[in-house]
Amino acid sequence: MLKRNTTYLAVVLVFVCVFVFLFYAGDAEAKEEETVTVTAEQLNFRLGPGTRYYAMDALESGTSVEVLAKQDSWFLVSLSDGRTGWIHGYYTTGSSPETKLSLQGIAKVEITASSLNIRMGPGQEYTAFDQLQGGTEATILAEENGWLLVKTRYGSTGWVYSEYTRTLSQEVTVTASTLNVRRGPGTSYEVVEQFEQGTAVKVLQESNDWMRLFLDDGSTAWIYGYYTSDAGDSGSGRDDDASQAPSRGGRQYLQGRTIAIDPGHGGRDPGAVGVTGLQEKVVAMTTANKVAGYLRAQGAEVVLTRSGDYFVSLARRVNIAHNAGADIFVSIHANSHPNPGISGTETYYYNYGGNAYSSRKLARLVQNQMVSESGLRNIGVKHGSFYVIRAPWIPSVLVELGFLSNWNDENLLKQDWFLDGQAQAITRGIINYFN
Ligand SMILES: [Zn+2]
Repeated sequence: MLKRNTTYLAVVLVFVCVFVFLFYAGDAEAKEEETVTVTAEQLNFRLGPGTRYYAMDALESGTSVEVLAKQDSWFLVSLSDGRTGWIHGYYTTGSSPETKLSLQGIAKVEITASSLNIRMGPGQEYTAFDQLQGGTEATILAEENGWLLVKTRYGSTGWVYSEYTRTLSQEVTVTASTLNVRRGPGTSYEVVEQFEQGTAVKVLQESNDWMRLFLDDGSTAWIYGYYTSDAGDSGSGRDDDASQAPSRGGRQYLQGRTIAIDPGHGGRDPGAVGVTGLQEKVVAMTTANKVAGYLRAQGAEVVLTRSGDYFVSLARRVNIAHNAGADIFVSIHANSHPNPGISGTETYYYNYGGNAYSSRKLARLVQNQMVSESGLRNIGVKHGSFYVIRAPWIPSVLVELGFLSNWNDENLLKQDWFLDGQAQAITRGIINYFN
Protein backbone atom coordinates (compact mmCIF):
# COMPACT_ATOMS: atom_id res chain seq x y z
CA MET A 1 0.00 0.00 0.00
CA LEU A 2 2.81 2.32 0.92
CA LYS A 3 4.40 1.60 -2.45
CA ARG A 4 1.13 2.40 -4.16
CA ASN A 5 0.84 5.79 -2.46
CA THR A 6 4.41 6.65 -3.30
CA THR A 7 3.77 5.76 -6.93
CA TYR A 8 0.71 7.95 -7.10
CA LEU A 9 2.59 10.81 -5.51
CA ALA A 10 5.34 10.39 -8.10
CA VAL A 11 2.77 10.34 -10.90
CA VAL A 12 1.19 13.53 -9.58
CA LEU A 13 4.59 15.21 -9.29
CA VAL A 14 5.55 14.23 -12.84
CA PHE A 15 2.22 15.49 -14.05
CA VAL A 16 2.73 18.83 -12.31
CA CYS A 17 6.23 19.13 -13.76
CA VAL A 18 5.02 18.36 -17.27
CA PHE A 19 2.23 20.88 -16.89
CA VAL A 20 4.60 23.59 -15.65
CA PHE A 21 7.00 22.80 -18.47
CA LEU A 22 4.29 23.01 -21.12
CA PHE A 23 2.95 26.21 -19.61
CA TYR A 24 6.31 27.97 -19.71
CA ALA A 25 7.71 26.36 -22.82
CA GLY A 26 4.66 27.53 -24.77
CA ASP A 27 5.06 25.10 -27.64
CA ALA A 28 1.72 26.09 -29.11
CA GLU A 29 3.36 26.52 -32.49
CA ALA A 30 4.55 22.94 -32.72
CA LYS A 31 1.16 21.71 -31.51
CA GLU A 32 -0.71 23.62 -34.15
CA GLU A 33 1.11 21.83 -36.95
CA GLU A 34 0.05 18.44 -35.66
CA THR A 35 -3.61 19.37 -35.37
CA VAL A 36 -6.34 18.52 -37.87
CA THR A 37 -10.06 19.33 -37.85
CA VAL A 38 -12.87 16.87 -38.52
CA THR A 39 -14.90 17.73 -41.64
CA ALA A 40 -17.38 14.82 -41.67
CA GLU A 41 -20.62 15.37 -39.76
CA GLN A 42 -19.84 12.33 -37.62
CA LEU A 43 -16.46 10.63 -37.78
CA ASN A 44 -15.90 7.28 -36.13
CA PHE A 45 -13.19 7.20 -33.49
CA ARG A 46 -11.85 3.65 -33.49
CA LEU A 47 -9.57 1.31 -31.58
CA GLY A 48 -7.36 0.62 -34.59
CA PRO A 49 -6.53 1.79 -38.13
CA GLY A 50 -9.38 0.24 -40.11
CA THR A 51 -13.15 -0.05 -40.27
CA ARG A 52 -12.96 -3.54 -38.76
CA TYR A 53 -11.98 -1.98 -35.42
CA TYR A 54 -14.64 -1.05 -32.90
CA ALA A 55 -15.76 2.59 -32.92
CA MET A 56 -15.55 3.92 -29.35
CA ASP A 57 -17.19 7.21 -30.20
CA ALA A 58 -18.07 9.53 -33.05
CA LEU A 59 -16.46 12.95 -33.41
CA GLU A 60 -18.50 15.96 -34.46
CA SER A 61 -17.60 18.12 -37.43
CA GLY A 62 -15.23 20.89 -36.33
CA THR A 63 -13.54 18.86 -33.59
CA SER A 64 -9.80 19.52 -33.44
CA VAL A 65 -7.55 16.57 -32.74
CA GLU A 66 -3.83 16.12 -32.39
CA VAL A 67 -2.26 13.66 -34.84
CA LEU A 68 0.22 11.37 -33.08
CA ALA A 69 0.99 8.95 -35.91
CA LYS A 70 -0.23 7.81 -39.31
CA GLN A 71 -0.74 4.46 -40.93
CA ASP A 72 -1.75 4.64 -44.58
CA SER A 73 -4.72 7.01 -44.56
CA TRP A 74 -5.52 6.46 -40.87
CA PHE A 75 -4.48 8.86 -38.12
CA LEU A 76 -3.81 7.93 -34.51
CA VAL A 77 -5.14 10.99 -32.71
CA SER A 78 -5.41 12.39 -29.22
CA LEU A 79 -8.61 14.21 -28.19
CA SER A 80 -8.71 17.21 -25.87
CA ASP A 81 -10.07 14.93 -23.12
CA GLY A 82 -6.97 12.73 -23.34
CA ARG A 83 -8.51 9.77 -25.17
CA THR A 84 -6.49 8.21 -27.97
CA GLY A 85 -7.88 6.45 -31.04
CA TRP A 86 -7.97 6.23 -34.82
CA ILE A 87 -9.83 8.26 -37.45
CA HIS A 88 -9.75 8.17 -41.23
CA GLY A 89 -7.60 11.08 -42.43
CA TYR A 90 -9.77 11.70 -45.49
CA TYR A 91 -12.43 13.36 -43.35
CA THR A 92 -10.13 16.00 -41.88
CA THR A 93 -8.54 19.26 -42.95
CA GLY A 94 -5.29 20.79 -41.87
CA SER A 95 -1.87 19.46 -42.55
CA SER A 96 0.13 17.30 -40.23
CA PRO A 97 3.48 16.95 -41.96
CA GLU A 98 5.33 15.72 -38.90
CA THR A 99 3.86 13.20 -36.55
CA LYS A 100 4.97 12.70 -33.00
CA LEU A 101 5.18 8.95 -32.81
CA SER A 102 6.54 6.12 -34.86
CA LEU A 103 4.24 3.13 -35.03
CA GLN A 104 7.35 0.97 -34.98
CA GLY A 105 7.39 1.79 -31.28
CA ILE A 106 10.30 2.26 -28.95
CA ALA A 107 10.31 -1.11 -27.25
CA LYS A 108 8.30 -4.21 -26.56
CA VAL A 109 6.79 -5.01 -23.22
CA GLU A 110 5.44 -8.16 -21.71
CA ILE A 111 2.41 -8.03 -19.42
CA THR A 112 3.39 -9.27 -15.96
CA ALA A 113 -0.06 -9.08 -14.30
CA SER A 114 -2.40 -12.02 -14.89
CA SER A 115 -4.45 -9.61 -16.99
CA LEU A 116 -4.19 -5.89 -17.57
CA ASN A 117 -6.81 -3.38 -18.68
CA ILE A 118 -6.26 -1.42 -21.87
CA ARG A 119 -7.79 2.01 -21.51
CA MET A 120 -8.79 4.77 -23.85
CA GLY A 121 -6.51 7.29 -22.15
CA PRO A 122 -3.54 7.48 -19.77
CA GLY A 123 -5.28 7.07 -16.42
CA GLN A 124 -7.63 4.93 -14.31
CA GLU A 125 -10.48 7.32 -15.08
CA TYR A 126 -10.57 6.31 -18.74
CA THR A 127 -12.78 3.47 -19.91
CA ALA A 128 -11.15 0.07 -20.25
CA PHE A 129 -12.09 -1.46 -23.60
CA ASP A 130 -10.05 -4.64 -23.51
CA GLN A 131 -7.60 -6.66 -21.46
CA LEU A 132 -4.18 -8.05 -22.24
CA GLN A 133 -3.46 -11.45 -20.73
CA GLY A 134 -0.30 -12.08 -18.72
CA GLY A 135 2.66 -12.98 -20.91
CA THR A 136 1.24 -11.09 -23.92
CA GLU A 137 3.62 -8.80 -25.74
CA ALA A 138 2.82 -5.31 -26.97
CA THR A 139 4.77 -2.50 -28.62
CA ILE A 140 5.23 0.77 -26.73
CA LEU A 141 4.42 3.82 -28.85
CA ALA A 142 4.62 6.44 -26.10
CA GLU A 143 4.88 6.90 -22.36
CA GLU A 144 3.07 9.41 -20.20
CA ASN A 145 3.15 9.61 -16.41
CA GLY A 146 3.62 5.92 -15.86
CA TRP A 147 1.14 4.93 -18.56
CA LEU A 148 2.18 3.33 -21.81
CA LEU A 149 0.44 3.79 -25.13
CA VAL A 150 0.79 0.35 -26.68
CA LYS A 151 -0.07 -1.32 -29.94
CA THR A 152 -1.33 -4.86 -29.55
CA ARG A 153 -0.61 -7.60 -32.05
CA TYR A 154 -4.13 -7.12 -33.39
CA GLY A 155 -3.26 -3.56 -34.36
CA SER A 156 -5.43 -1.75 -31.83
CA THR A 157 -3.90 0.87 -29.58
CA GLY A 158 -4.59 1.85 -25.98
CA TRP A 159 -3.06 2.66 -22.62
CA VAL A 160 -1.78 0.28 -19.94
CA TYR A 161 -0.32 0.97 -16.51
CA SER A 162 3.45 0.47 -16.79
CA GLU A 163 3.86 -1.06 -13.33
CA TYR A 164 2.43 -4.34 -14.62
CA THR A 165 4.71 -4.60 -17.62
CA ARG A 166 8.30 -5.59 -18.21
CA THR A 167 10.42 -4.10 -21.00
CA LEU A 168 11.83 -6.79 -23.25
CA SER A 169 15.38 -6.13 -24.29
CA GLN A 170 17.98 -8.34 -25.83
CA GLU A 171 21.74 -8.02 -25.44
CA VAL A 172 24.01 -8.07 -28.47
CA THR A 173 27.74 -7.60 -28.97
CA VAL A 174 29.29 -5.31 -31.59
CA THR A 175 31.36 -7.31 -34.11
CA ALA A 176 32.58 -4.51 -36.42
CA SER A 177 35.78 -2.72 -35.43
CA THR A 178 33.70 0.43 -35.05
CA LEU A 179 29.97 0.71 -35.46
CA ASN A 180 28.14 3.94 -36.15
CA VAL A 181 25.27 4.79 -33.81
CA ARG A 182 22.65 6.81 -35.65
CA ARG A 183 19.61 8.93 -34.84
CA GLY A 184 17.35 6.81 -36.98
CA PRO A 185 17.14 3.42 -38.71
CA GLY A 186 19.08 4.22 -41.88
CA THR A 187 22.46 5.41 -43.10
CA SER A 188 20.97 8.80 -43.95
CA TYR A 189 20.62 9.59 -40.24
CA GLU A 190 23.22 11.55 -38.31
CA VAL A 191 25.95 9.57 -36.51
CA VAL A 192 25.75 10.41 -32.81
CA GLU A 193 28.30 8.01 -31.39
CA GLN A 194 30.52 5.05 -32.29
CA PHE A 195 30.77 1.73 -30.51
CA GLU A 196 34.01 -0.26 -30.38
CA GLN A 197 34.17 -3.93 -31.21
CA GLY A 198 33.05 -6.05 -28.28
CA THR A 199 30.69 -3.44 -26.79
CA ALA A 200 27.64 -5.05 -25.24
CA VAL A 201 24.44 -3.28 -26.21
CA LYS A 202 20.90 -3.69 -24.90
CA VAL A 203 18.50 -3.63 -27.81
CA LEU A 204 14.92 -2.44 -27.35
CA GLN A 205 13.54 -3.06 -30.79
CA GLU A 206 14.43 -4.38 -34.19
CA SER A 207 13.12 -2.88 -37.39
CA ASN A 208 14.22 -4.67 -40.51
CA ASP A 209 17.97 -4.87 -39.99
CA TRP A 210 18.22 -1.94 -37.60
CA MET A 211 18.23 -2.16 -33.83
CA ARG A 212 17.09 0.53 -31.43
CA LEU A 213 18.80 1.10 -28.11
CA PHE A 214 18.98 3.55 -25.25
CA LEU A 215 22.03 5.80 -24.98
CA ASP A 216 23.36 6.80 -21.56
CA ASP A 217 21.50 10.12 -21.70
CA GLY A 218 18.18 8.27 -22.02
CA SER A 219 17.63 9.11 -25.69
CA THR A 220 17.27 6.33 -28.23
CA ALA A 221 19.47 5.64 -31.24
CA TRP A 222 19.95 2.95 -33.87
CA ILE A 223 22.67 0.58 -35.01
CA TYR A 224 22.86 -1.67 -38.01
CA GLY A 225 22.13 -5.16 -36.75
CA TYR A 226 24.36 -7.02 -39.20
CA TYR A 227 27.39 -5.83 -37.23
CA THR A 228 26.32 -7.47 -34.03
CA SER A 229 26.07 -10.97 -32.70
CA ASP A 230 23.95 -12.31 -29.88
CA ALA A 231 25.68 -11.84 -26.56
CA GLY A 232 27.95 -14.79 -25.86
CA ASP A 233 29.03 -15.31 -29.48
CA SER A 234 32.65 -14.49 -30.05
CA GLY A 235 33.19 -11.50 -32.33
CA SER A 236 33.59 -12.43 -35.97
CA GLY A 237 36.65 -10.19 -36.23
CA ARG A 238 35.47 -8.69 -39.46
CA ASP A 239 36.76 -5.25 -40.16
CA ASP A 240 33.98 -3.25 -41.68
CA ASP A 241 31.72 -0.39 -40.80
CA ALA A 242 27.97 -0.02 -41.18
CA SER A 243 28.39 2.95 -43.48
CA GLN A 244 30.81 1.07 -45.72
CA ALA A 245 29.33 -2.30 -46.54
CA PRO A 246 26.04 -3.99 -46.07
CA SER A 247 26.00 -7.26 -44.30
CA ARG A 248 26.89 -9.91 -41.85
CA GLY A 249 26.13 -13.31 -43.19
CA GLY A 250 25.64 -12.09 -46.75
CA ARG A 251 28.65 -14.06 -47.92
CA GLN A 252 27.17 -17.44 -47.12
CA TYR A 253 24.10 -16.66 -49.23
CA LEU A 254 25.76 -14.91 -52.18
CA GLN A 255 28.78 -17.15 -52.70
CA GLY A 256 28.38 -18.88 -56.04
CA ARG A 257 25.47 -16.68 -57.15
CA THR A 258 25.52 -14.60 -60.29
CA ILE A 259 23.46 -11.45 -60.27
CA ALA A 260 22.64 -9.31 -63.28
CA ILE A 261 22.37 -5.61 -62.47
CA ASP A 262 20.78 -3.51 -65.18
CA PRO A 263 21.35 0.25 -65.02
CA GLY A 264 18.35 1.62 -66.97
CA HIS A 265 18.77 3.71 -70.14
CA GLY A 266 22.16 5.12 -71.24
CA GLY A 267 23.81 6.95 -74.13
CA ARG A 268 21.27 8.64 -76.42
CA ASP A 269 18.49 7.51 -74.08
CA PRO A 270 18.67 9.64 -70.92
CA GLY A 271 15.46 8.17 -69.46
CA ALA A 272 13.42 10.56 -67.37
CA VAL A 273 14.81 14.03 -66.79
CA GLY A 274 14.32 15.65 -63.40
CA VAL A 275 12.81 19.02 -62.52
CA THR A 276 16.28 20.54 -62.35
CA GLY A 277 17.75 18.39 -65.10
CA LEU A 278 19.06 15.27 -63.35
CA GLN A 279 19.04 12.38 -65.83
CA GLU A 280 17.69 8.95 -64.96
CA LYS A 281 20.55 7.17 -66.75
CA VAL A 282 23.04 8.83 -64.37
CA VAL A 283 21.10 7.89 -61.22
CA ALA A 284 20.75 4.32 -62.52
CA MET A 285 24.45 3.93 -63.35
CA THR A 286 25.68 5.37 -60.05
CA THR A 287 23.35 3.17 -58.03
CA ALA A 288 24.09 0.06 -60.12
CA ASN A 289 27.84 0.46 -59.61
CA LYS A 290 27.33 0.73 -55.88
CA VAL A 291 25.08 -2.33 -55.78
CA ALA A 292 27.62 -4.29 -57.84
CA GLY A 293 30.37 -3.30 -55.40
CA TYR A 294 28.39 -4.39 -52.37
CA LEU A 295 27.34 -7.68 -53.93
CA ARG A 296 30.90 -8.51 -54.99
CA ALA A 297 32.13 -7.69 -51.49
CA GLN A 298 29.77 -10.42 -50.30
CA GLY A 299 31.15 -12.96 -52.75
CA ALA A 300 28.60 -12.71 -55.57
CA GLU A 301 29.46 -12.69 -59.26
CA VAL A 302 27.94 -9.57 -60.80
CA VAL A 303 27.30 -8.82 -64.43
CA LEU A 304 26.35 -5.26 -65.37
CA THR A 305 24.34 -4.86 -68.57
CA ARG A 306 26.21 -1.64 -69.25
CA SER A 307 29.28 -0.22 -67.57
CA GLY A 308 29.24 3.30 -68.94
CA ASP A 309 27.12 5.91 -70.65
CA TYR A 310 26.23 4.14 -73.89
CA PHE A 311 23.06 2.77 -75.45
CA VAL A 312 22.18 -0.90 -74.96
CA SER A 313 18.98 -2.40 -76.39
CA LEU A 314 16.56 -4.11 -74.02
CA ALA A 315 17.02 -7.46 -75.78
CA ARG A 316 20.78 -7.18 -75.45
CA ARG A 317 20.46 -6.48 -71.70
CA VAL A 318 18.49 -9.66 -71.17
CA ASN A 319 20.94 -11.66 -73.35
CA ILE A 320 23.88 -10.43 -71.29
CA ALA A 321 22.18 -11.77 -68.15
CA HIS A 322 21.31 -15.11 -69.76
CA ASN A 323 24.80 -15.56 -71.23
CA ALA A 324 26.37 -14.92 -67.84
CA GLY A 325 24.17 -17.59 -66.29
CA ALA A 326 22.67 -15.04 -63.90
CA ASP A 327 20.37 -16.28 -61.14
CA ILE A 328 18.36 -13.06 -60.92
CA PHE A 329 17.96 -9.80 -62.84
CA VAL A 330 17.62 -6.43 -61.13
CA SER A 331 16.89 -3.37 -63.24
CA ILE A 332 17.45 0.06 -61.69
CA HIS A 333 15.42 3.11 -62.69
CA ALA A 334 14.02 6.39 -61.44
CA ASN A 335 10.44 7.43 -62.02
CA SER A 336 8.58 10.34 -63.55
CA HIS A 337 4.97 11.49 -63.38
CA PRO A 338 3.06 14.43 -64.85
CA ASN A 339 1.96 15.35 -61.31
CA PRO A 340 5.04 16.82 -59.58
CA GLY A 341 3.46 16.14 -56.20
CA ILE A 342 3.89 12.40 -56.57
CA SER A 343 6.79 10.94 -54.64
CA GLY A 344 7.87 7.51 -53.49
CA THR A 345 9.49 4.20 -54.26
CA GLU A 346 8.04 1.21 -56.10
CA THR A 347 9.23 -2.11 -57.45
CA TYR A 348 7.83 -4.01 -60.44
CA TYR A 349 7.77 -7.72 -61.25
CA TYR A 350 6.05 -9.71 -63.99
CA ASN A 351 3.15 -11.67 -62.56
CA TYR A 352 2.95 -14.41 -65.24
CA GLY A 353 5.03 -17.43 -66.10
CA GLY A 354 7.13 -19.70 -63.95
CA ASN A 355 9.06 -16.93 -62.22
CA ALA A 356 6.07 -14.93 -60.97
CA TYR A 357 6.34 -16.20 -57.40
CA SER A 358 10.10 -15.74 -57.09
CA SER A 359 10.05 -12.38 -58.81
CA ARG A 360 7.35 -11.16 -56.50
CA LYS A 361 9.28 -12.36 -53.48
CA LEU A 362 12.44 -10.60 -54.67
CA ALA A 363 10.44 -7.44 -55.42
CA ARG A 364 8.92 -7.41 -51.95
CA LEU A 365 12.24 -7.96 -50.16
CA VAL A 366 14.06 -5.28 -52.13
CA GLN A 367 11.18 -2.81 -51.86
CA ASN A 368 10.94 -3.25 -48.08
CA GLN A 369 14.61 -2.55 -47.64
CA MET A 370 14.60 0.49 -49.93
CA VAL A 371 11.63 2.08 -48.19
CA SER A 372 12.88 1.44 -44.70
CA GLU A 373 16.22 2.94 -45.70
CA SER A 374 14.89 6.05 -47.43
CA GLY A 375 11.70 6.79 -45.55
CA LEU A 376 10.09 7.74 -48.87
CA ARG A 377 6.47 6.80 -49.51
CA ASN A 378 6.02 3.08 -50.02
CA ILE A 379 4.06 2.74 -53.27
CA GLY A 380 4.56 -0.99 -53.05
CA VAL A 381 5.29 -3.88 -55.39
CA LYS A 382 3.32 -4.07 -58.62
CA HIS A 383 2.90 -6.21 -61.67
CA GLY A 384 4.39 -4.54 -64.75
CA SER A 385 4.91 -5.75 -68.30
CA PHE A 386 8.25 -4.09 -69.02
CA TYR A 387 10.51 -6.05 -71.38
CA VAL A 388 13.37 -6.40 -68.90
CA ILE A 389 11.17 -8.12 -66.33
CA ARG A 390 9.00 -10.03 -68.82
CA ALA A 391 11.67 -11.50 -71.10
CA PRO A 392 14.27 -12.95 -68.71
CA TRP A 393 13.86 -16.63 -67.83
CA ILE A 394 15.13 -15.87 -64.32
CA PRO A 395 13.41 -14.00 -61.46
CA SER A 396 13.46 -10.32 -62.38
CA VAL A 397 12.50 -7.01 -60.81
CA LEU A 398 12.60 -3.37 -61.79
CA VAL A 399 13.08 -0.81 -59.02
CA GLU A 400 12.02 2.81 -59.28
CA LEU A 401 14.05 4.63 -56.64
CA GLY A 402 12.01 7.83 -56.59
CA PHE A 403 10.39 10.45 -58.82
CA LEU A 404 12.65 12.76 -60.81
CA SER A 405 9.52 14.80 -61.48
CA ASN A 406 9.23 15.54 -57.76
CA TRP A 407 11.47 18.28 -56.39
CA ASN A 408 12.25 16.54 -53.10
CA ASP A 409 12.82 13.09 -54.62
CA GLU A 410 15.05 14.54 -57.33
CA ASN A 411 17.09 16.37 -54.72
CA LEU A 412 17.61 13.11 -52.83
CA LEU A 413 18.54 11.27 -56.03
CA LYS A 414 21.36 13.82 -56.51
CA GLN A 415 22.91 12.92 -53.16
CA ASP A 416 25.60 10.29 -53.12
CA TRP A 417 24.71 9.20 -49.56
CA PHE A 418 21.13 8.64 -50.63
CA LEU A 419 22.07 6.44 -53.60
CA ASP A 420 24.58 4.65 -51.40
CA GLY A 421 21.88 3.89 -48.85
CA GLN A 422 19.56 2.65 -51.58
CA ALA A 423 22.33 0.47 -53.01
CA GLN A 424 22.89 -1.07 -49.59
CA ALA A 425 19.16 -1.59 -49.24
CA ILE A 426 18.91 -3.34 -52.62
CA THR A 427 21.85 -5.53 -51.62
CA ARG A 428 20.19 -6.46 -48.34
CA GLY A 429 17.00 -7.31 -50.22
CA ILE A 430 18.96 -9.60 -52.55
CA ILE A 431 20.72 -11.27 -49.62
CA ASN A 432 17.37 -11.83 -47.94
CA TYR A 433 16.06 -13.37 -51.14
CA PHE A 434 18.83 -15.99 -51.20
CA ASN A 435 18.66 -16.46 -47.44
ZN1 LIG B 1 13.53 4.12 -66.63
